[in-house]
Amino acid sequence: MNKYLNDVVKEIKPSGIRRFFDLSLGATDAIPLSVGEPDFDTPKHIAQKGIEAIENGNTFYTPNAGLLELRKEISKFVKRKYDCDYNEEEILVTLGGSEAIDLSFRVLLNPGDEVIMTNPGYVSYEPNVKLVGGVPVFVDIKEKNNFKIDPEDLEKVITDKTKMLVMNYPNNPTGAIMEKEDLEKIAKIVIKHDLIVVSDEIYSELTYKGKHVSLASIEGMKNHVVLINGFSKSFAMTGWRLGYVCADKDIIKQMIKVHQYTAICVSTISQFAGIEALKNGDDDIEKMKEQYVIRRKYLLQRFKDMGLDCYVPYGAFYCFVNISKFGLSSEEFALRLVFEGKVIVIPGTAFGSKGEGFLRVSYAYSIEDLKEGMDRFERFIQTL
Ligand code: PMP
Repeated sequence: MNKYLNDVVKEIKPSGIRRFFDLSLGATDAIPLSVGEPDFDTPKHIAQKGIEAIENGNTFYTPNAGLLELRKEISKFVKRKYDCDYNEEEILVTLGGSEAIDLSFRVLLNPGDEVIMTNPGYVSYEPNVKLVGGVPVFVDIKEKNNFKIDPEDLEKVITDKTKMLVMNYPNNPTGAIMEKEDLEKIAKIVIKHDLIVVSDEIYSELTYKGKHVSLASIEGMKNHVVLINGFSKSFAMTGWRLGYVCADKDIIKQMIKVHQYTAICVSTISQFAGIEALKNGDDDIEKMKEQYVIRRKYLLQRFKDMGLDCYVPYGAFYCFVNISKFGLSSEEFALRLVFEGKVIVIPGTAFGSKGEGFLRVSYAYSIEDLKEGMDRFERFIQTL
């Protein structure tokens, strides 16, 4: 059957996260601290609006761009939360942030265009860029810089073929954030080289130091940013597959064409639930965040007590803990931790070569699971 397959697709490797899950499938007695999704149920009043949509017969296609009411709520939400100005014609409702990422590359890249992304970084950017013939170029982000993009390092990898920068803060896998003054330095470079930035801000509601600052709100940046966000992380709605992209209306117009031919529209039921989330979901975000704050503190304290260096993450729900002192590769460490220690975490290398020496530990788990996981982790490192 291979002869029928597309050459580019054949070359793409399965996600390192998926691969690691498959490897650890046999370990049914292991406790997972590996998944990047909230453990909370979707808040009841939000789910209820989805149920009502079905009961009221709201089960037909919506406009390709998404329900007007939802786009209006998104417009208000990004203004209220991040001081970003996008009207309903500058917003497209997508199948999670994932489709928004894919659409950004499809609509903006030509074959041969170079796209700068971080190493380590979220797993979907590199393959999606390759699928449209773009060329991924990596800028290393380092623990000593708190995993922020260093402006000098960024300048070094820019060539005359660079068209795009992909940014993701709060960051998966490191939990890093970039603050206003950090973003302003990047913005200067972006404007100087006339780049477009795909800014994946899916974890924007999960910051533990001040409020999230959107790259799109930095002066002079609106025309250089494609802003991606969604409901999965903020509202515990991963399975609803609901996200959005905000950008100049010329970009959105092109995105709507691709979206129309591939998806038509996002599930109508999910869109109705999304309206409720944006209108009345602020308290839910706060309640979940309170729990993440407690868990994050607990995890950091446990690592500290074990004598492990854990860089202090100010966003998302991940700790990126340095295990290089044990002399094992991240993958070896993580595999032995599954089979001997009975805890599943993700090796840093699943996110790129520069994740070597690190593990991504998710705290989107109950405090009881975290406690048990950390007790086991501690016993395991004592055997090394
Ligand atoms: N971006 C990042 C950085 C993520 O971690 C995820 C989910 N793991 C996504 C995008 C996609 O999320 P969704 O499609 O569920 O909105």
